[in-house]
Formats: sequence, structure tokens, C-alpha cells
Amino acid sequence: MFSEKNILLLQRINALLPHVERRKPSALLCRHCSYVNEMEFSFCTNCGYPLHNKLLEDVFYKRIHQRTNIRFKAESSVMFARTVLYVIGSFLFMGIFFIFAENNRKYLIVSLALMLSGLFFFLAFWSRKNPFTALLTAFIVLIAFSAINIFSSFIQSFTTLAGVTGMLLCLVLLFVMLKGVQAAYRINLINEELQFKI
Ligand SMILES: [Zn+2]
Repeated sequence: MFSEKNILLLQRINALLPHVERRKPSALLCRHCSYVNEMEFSFCTNCGYPLHNKLLEDVFYKRIHQRTNIRFKAESSVMFARTVLYVIGSFLFMGIFFIFAENNRKYLIVSLALMLSGLFFFLAFWSRKNPFTALLTAFIVLIAFSAINIFSSFIQSFTTLAGVTGMLLCLVLLFVMLKGVQAAYRINLINEELQFKI
């Protein structure tokens, strides 16, 4: 049946038939985020997941794991800075006891202490919602206070230690706030990077 003549005939018939080409798939679904990518892409446009290379999948998950770890550490820095803000707020609130002092400016001092206490409690609360802006504000406020040396005068009122302690304390507080600001910024970046991947 498959003689040379028949084969030639079949070939001729085949040439006359409408030509159906097997099309290659032009799109590829990302296995990680279900985003539709073009076939020739090596990585998902949405999440960066390797589309063809199995070896790179490990690298992908390691990177997410690493980012999650960095974010976890950064969150503890932010939490520490927030706790310090609560402590400053509480310390300033104790300024209310200045009301019993023999000082003709005691009402001014007490109202100033309470106002500042409120400000630091507000910054601490705010840092739950927007850590970067809140901690940056706290940092700027602390720099301003260091400049006018308001803390050392308060410390001198409560302890026997001299103003040197006040300056040292200011530096430590500034350092904690700066660390918190850095950490909050890092958290924002990582959240932006990972938002499609979780
Ligand atoms: Zn993807």
C-alpha cells in the first residue's frame, strides 16, 4: 500500500491541504504567583521567580528567607526605639512632681514636662502605624533637645549625677532613634519587594 507512488501521491495531497502549524505556547504561567509571562522570559516579571531554571528556584526561596530574616531583625530595632520613646514619655511625665518644688517657675516646668511627655507618647504610638516617619520625627526632636540641653537640666533635677550623664544619654537616645529609622526604612523596602511574593 505504501508504495513509492502512493507516498508521492500522499505528499502531493498533503501539500494541497491547509497547512496546520503546531504553535509553540507563547505564554507561561508563573508557578509562584500565577502571573502570565512571555515564553522567552527567564524570570517572572511580577515576582522574579525563575521560569525555566530549576536550580535557580532554590536561590529564589533562599533570597526570600534572607529578606524575611533581615526584616525580623529590623522590626526588633524599631520595637526597641519605640520602647525608648515610651520610657522618655514616662520620665517626662514624672516632671509633674515638680509641682511640689520650691521654685517660682514650677508651673512652667510642669506644663512643659507634660507637653513633652505627651509628644513622646504620641510619637511612640505613631511609630506603630508609620515607624519611619515617627522615628525620624523623634530623632529630629531629640537633636533639637540635645541642642538646647533640656534633658540635662531635667536629669539634674532628678539625680545627683552631673550634666555629662545628660549629654551621654542624649547621644545614646539619638543612636537608638537613628537605628530605628534605618530599620524602619529597610522594612519598607523589603515589604515593597516581597509584597507580590507572599
Ligand atoms: Zn511570579
